[in-house]
Amino acid sequence: MKLENKIWDKSECLSRDEIESIQVQRLRETVKRVQNVPFYAKKFKELGIGPEDIKSVSDVKYLPFTTKTDMRENYPLGLMAVPKEKVLRFHGSSGTTGKPTFVAYTKNDLEMWSDMVARFLYSGGARPGHTAQISFGYGLFTGGFGLHYGLEKIGSSIIPAASGNTRRQFTLLQDLKPELLVCTPTYALRLIEYMEDEKIPRESLNLKVAFLGSEPWTEEMRLYIEDRLQVNTCNNYGLSEVIGPGISGECVYHTGMHIQEDYFLVECLDPKTLEPVPEGELGELVITPLNKEAMPMIRYRTRDLAYIVKDSPCPCGRTTKRMSRIKGRSDDMLIIRGVNVFPSQVEEALLQCKDVTPNFLIVLDRPGSLDRSVVQVEMSPAFFSDKMSEMQMLKTNLEETIRSYTGIHFEVDLVQPQSIERFTGKAARVVDNRPKEN
Ligand code: ADP
Ligand code: ZN
Repeated sequence: MKLENKIWDKSECLSRDEIESIQVQRLRETVKRVQNVPFYAKKFKELGIGPEDIKSVSDVKYLPFTTKTDMRENYPLGLMAVPKEKVLRFHGSSGTTGKPTFVAYTKNDLEMWSDMVARFLYSGGARPGHTAQISFGYGLFTGGFGLHYGLEKIGSSIIPAASGNTRRQFTLLQDLKPELLVCTPTYALRLIEYMEDEKIPRESLNLKVAFLGSEPWTEEMRLYIEDRLQVNTCNNYGLSEVIGPGISGECVYHTGMHIQEDYFLVECLDPKTLEPVPEGELGELVITPLNKEAMPMIRYRTRDLAYIVKDSPCPCGRTTKRMSRIKGRSDDMLIIRGVNVFPSQVEEALLQCKDVTPNFLIVLDRPGSLDRSVVQVEMSPAFFSDKMSEMQMLKTNLEETIRSYTGIHFEVDLVQPQSIERFTGKAARVVDNRPKEN
């Protein structure tokens, strides 16, 4: 579908020199601001660095990192740089990898957050007068409120459907006819499945764009969702520790996610050496928000693996650098018999085959001295049959395809339609029963 390309804010189209001069100035201010946080004041004192030492963007390399552990050690609000009375809102990480952590926002923080969300929504085709159904969880999770206020800023009307209750989601989609949908890619799959099972005609919906994010997904998944739901999809990225959604998002051209560089300094580093990797090569994203007041962060190690797209203009006219999809988190990476595997590689392989659904669960154990890797895969309702020979052929085919994507053998366990758990938010795709190594 062809969507009109328009720019929300002229700061998305600055020259490299203009962007860098804003970044240097804001980085200096940020370093000044974090001196109010004892954790940072101590680190900067030890390093003997102050705001006046920041002369260029590349000077960020002299600054200390911040990790999830630092957040936990300063739990609940030790990293706050303003008195609590200045805070207008709290959120928390969804706790995917442990105890939740809290983040705080001042009035200015909320204002700029809604601005950055508005920018990527607009770049993907959201417009005043559109109606948007938000099927993200509302609550501590930054997704629901983050997208909500960005849409409101644009002037789109909002159906705050929240997550779950798929039947009601369709009542809203059919009766209020939103053009825009906001959810996780996994929940988009669930909506497609429901629509097909209940034989809901696509013509009864008016969806044009789905803004998907908050968990890893693949290009294959994009094709699957766009084909079945007949929408354009736009990926967007963020994490609560840095602010929430809004760090980057795709425009209608899908050339990578435009990074909001006047708000964030994004580095892509080798996670072992912590040295920058060249553009186009996978590394860990390390992000320094440049305007945050309540909880500024210096070089937050996201553990998200992606690459910075090699310098090339985007037809939309935005000049900001772009980042690839997130391949996975460094802590999602599985090491199976010595080989690094991401669940997203299994997803890519499964989406090559129309006889199975993209619902899967990887189960790992170690019965003897070797890892055993099984992937449970749901057959599509159309294929589901009692014919052993057909099933055997499908299984062998899938095992070969998965091997070509991951480099290792996964035993495929074909399971009945609907037998794998469905998710309304982020999916959990791995059960690792292997003994923990010390
Ligand atoms: P939690 O760390 O508890 O999951 P968040 O809700 O803040 O907390 O989730 C942020 C994380 O979600 C990111 O660090 C990243 O791993 C993942 N994420 C967010 N958006 C995307 C996206 N578009 N693609 C892939 N992963 C994403
Ligand atoms: Zn673009």
